[in-house]
Amino acid sequence: MKRTAIVYDPFHTHHTYPHHPENHRRVEETWALLQEDSILKHLIQVPSSPAPREAILRVHTPEYLERLEYVALTGGGHLDGDTYVTADSYEAALRAAGGLLNVTGRVLRGEADNAFALVRPPGHHALVNQGMGFCLLANVAIAARWAQDQFGVDRVLIVDFDVHHGNGTQDVFYADPSVLFFSTHQFPYYPGTGAAGERGAGPGVGTTVNVPLPPGVGDAGYLEAFRRILMPVARRFRPELILLSAGFDAHWQDPLAGMRLSIAGYAQLTAVVMELAEELCQGRLVAVLEGGYNLEVLAHNVLSSLRLLRGEADAVSDPFGPAPGAEREVAPLLEQLRRLHRLEDPPFYAIPH
Ligand SMILES: [Zn+2]
Repeated sequence: MKRTAIVYDPFHTHHTYPHHPENHRRVEETWALLQEDSILKHLIQVPSSPAPREAILRVHTPEYLERLEYVALTGGGHLDGDTYVTADSYEAALRAAGGLLNVTGRVLRGEADNAFALVRPPGHHALVNQGMGFCLLANVAIAARWAQDQFGVDRVLIVDFDVHHGNGTQDVFYADPSVLFFSTHQFPYYPGTGAAGERGAGPGVGTTVNVPLPPGVGDAGYLEAFRRILMPVARRFRPELILLSAGFDAHWQDPLAGMRLSIAGYAQLTAVVMELAEELCQGRLVAVLEGGYNLEVLAHNVLSSLRLLRGEADAVSDPFGPAPGAEREVAPLLEQLRRLHRLEDPPFYAIPH
């Protein structure tokens, strides 16, 4: 069995807002399911702590960080129509990023094989100078930079299977060939970015890989996207660490989006990412929670992910089953993307060594 680390901090429940889909119950109910299950006693429970300021400032501007702190200190407010800040949100955001850094450190020091950060607020929409889309700090981007700075990791692969495009993560690394960002997402949809033609800029051309999917794609289409696009892209890039932006809102029961993944389907995607981590970077994989707004679906997805990360044989806990009806065909789209990213050819960008 693998040594799997988890970080969860009850403080994350202090960041909440009435009738908002991104509320405290998401992690509270997920944690309750993990407690009912026997899994927690098999996991390395890692404490949370606020991320160091210098780690955050490698991604965000000091002006934005000060503004976020000020809004919280003055009792809270909104960064945009969707994105609330409470008096506790600054601290919660620091601990979300910091908790992720703590488990990433365990993995990079060899004290754990892989990890899951059950943290919020989520991060993949947060821009360098602006929180948005329920996200305050760009957790996964901060972790990628920190792994490079503190552990000398040269190449980080970020896989994002949240139903929304991870525009914040993409922006941070758009011109940076040392971080490969791969995202599957419903398109066109919030936040509007993530077209196939967004492939990076300057030296980073080719290290942003977007798989924009029409609504209605399910387990088979997603798995094909991971096998036909992610696998060759990852093998070409040869990451030393894989981070997974684990958003579970592409599930067919999620209230915010229109995709048709099942919990078993999500598990197959995670299994592909684990296989790549095994093959390319000694299994070093750290997942961090992003979206997922059906509370029961979210909880069972996290439980299944943790069992998979540990290497349990019967990993999937799926009370919902597969989506009813037929799913949308994506083979022609995937072939176009394979040509766009020249997946039959040798690399055409300079990979840092
Ligand atoms: Zn999402």
